[in-house]
Amino acid sequence: MAVVLVTGGTGLVGQALKHVIDTEPEGSKYGKLKGETWIFASSADGDLRDPAQTLAMYEKYKPTHVIHLAALVGGLFKNMKYKLTFLRENILINDNVLHASHTQKTTKLISCLSTCVFPDAVTYPLDETKIHSGPPHESNFGYAHAKRMVDVQNHAYKEEFGCNFTSAIPTNIFGPHDNYDLEDAHVIPALVHKCYLAKQNGTPFIVSGTGKPLRQFIFSRDLAKLFVWMLRDYDDVEPIILSVGEDEEVSIKQVTDAIVKAVGFKGEYSFDTTRADGQFRKPASNKKLLERLGPNSGFQFTPFEEALDISVKWFIENYDTARTGMKKKA
Ligand code: NAP
Ligand code: GDP
Repeated sequence: MAVVLVTGGTGLVGQALKHVIDTEPEGSKYGKLKGETWIFASSADGDLRDPAQTLAMYEKYKPTHVIHLAALVGGLFKNMKYKLTFLRENILINDNVLHASHTQKTTKLISCLSTCVFPDAVTYPLDETKIHSGPPHESNFGYAHAKRMVDVQNHAYKEEFGCNFTSAIPTNIFGPHDNYDLEDAHVIPALVHKCYLAKQNGTPFIVSGTGKPLRQFIFSRDLAKLFVWMLRDYDDVEPIILSVGEDEEVSIKQVTDAIVKAVGFKGEYSFDTTRADGQFRKPASNKKLLERLGPNSGFQFTPFEEALDISVKWFIENYDTARTGMKKKA
């Protein structure tokens, strides 16, 4: 019987996958198959930086399929601060998971990269052929190099051992169960939290940088459906970008305005231009995704504002237990 192990099962994307598997009807396009078991593992199930604990997790669950999401993850400012830690921890986690997937004869492994791994100086839009064609942006070179190695290893495992390993490349993700830490999070969860505090406490709402950089965002539950689609229908070692269209870039200022509306904040906000902007833009093409899904897939991305409303509502309702980087109430 098939066992699907999701590493990083307690994180933003892992919990979105759990939501999809729990709510889509069994046997439907994004639902689980009859008799299939899904395991959503956290670091408490085993520290994947450690080879012995990784192997023990595989021996315990005996996964036939693995969706590998576990990683040291963070927004621009965390990436800038801990470059070596991002490099080392992600290399260790990925090497252990790929090696265990090979030795334990996992039928299929899908790992998760990011559009952050692409070169900084490159012709746009980004596509799957450009991952290794130049150095990444200096702000996240630790994370980017570690993630690029997954693609290198996937090809090597396929060539030497015939493994069915592949990878997904999502853009900036947001949704329920995100990390809403004020300093370490990605832009949407960090600004949702800052805006919420400004509204509750009457404190200033300050957005980092100039507000001019452009990003593409994907709702975690849309991404989760695409992971299920990959599990069923995508068997190519080459990575695939999971993204909205390249014409759907939004500026950080536009994102901030949408957050202000979703939170219901009535005050003014300002930009702290002494803080970094990071990479100006990284528009990614979803041409390959749309081709592979096919014209009759029926797959639709959730409109940005609707997805943001769901995320903000979740954050407010779960403030006491969400990852906020703040001391929890006793
Ligand atoms: P997340 O919310 O920070 O969750 C990280 C997950 O990894 C948690 O389940 C965590 O377990 C687990 N984990 C971390 N270190 C571990 C370790 N040493 N051993 C075992 N498990 C460990 O991350 P996410 O945002 O869902 O990211 C999922 C994937 O998407 C990652 O590969 C990330 O690189 C990629 N990605 C994310 C974004 C984004 O905007 N968030 C964008 C592009 C790509 P605990 O709960 O036990 O700590
Ligand atoms: P990136 O897409 O990998 O660069 O990561 P982020 O999700 O951290 O987005 C970074 C962009 O959002 C940069 O242009 C930042 O200047 C801007 N930004 C504005 N306010 C914040 C904030 O509070 N946290 C983060 N992480 N980024 C912010």
